[in-house]
Amino acid sequence: MTTKPARSLLAILTAGVLLAGGYATLQASKSRTFQFFGGMVNRAGIDDKVVALTFDDAPTSQTGSVLRILDDLDVRATFFVIGEALERDAQAGRRIVEEGHELGNHSYSHQRMVFKTPPSSAGK
Ligand SMILES: [Zn+2]
Repeated sequence: MTTKPARSLLAILTAGVLLAGGYATLQASKSRTFQFFGGMVNRAGIDDKVVALTFDDAPTSQTGSVLRILDDLDVRATFFVIGEALERDAQAGRRIVEEGHELGNHSYSHQRMVFKTPPSSAGK
């Protein structure tokens, strides 16, 4: 049988552990250099000074305008696409590739990526 002060201390410690765990999970979910599962590329591994131009969460209503500007400047970029958006506008996805840009995968629905596991077909 525990005493009332011991139960209070245990409750305070439990609350502290839960808060610390919640805070750590929140910070991990915001990280751009860490994820729990799968690999992550955050460096190019080259010594040249270069810029990688990327666009997040394409295609959007702005994708056509962006593609025209990139074409005028003869610049290539990577468009991280969302499957749901590609289903709505597959032609935009085809245009991105046809104009020499690369596609990156930001999942089907773009939920927080920190707990995403690699697909079972990864590497096949
Ligand atoms: Zn994104």
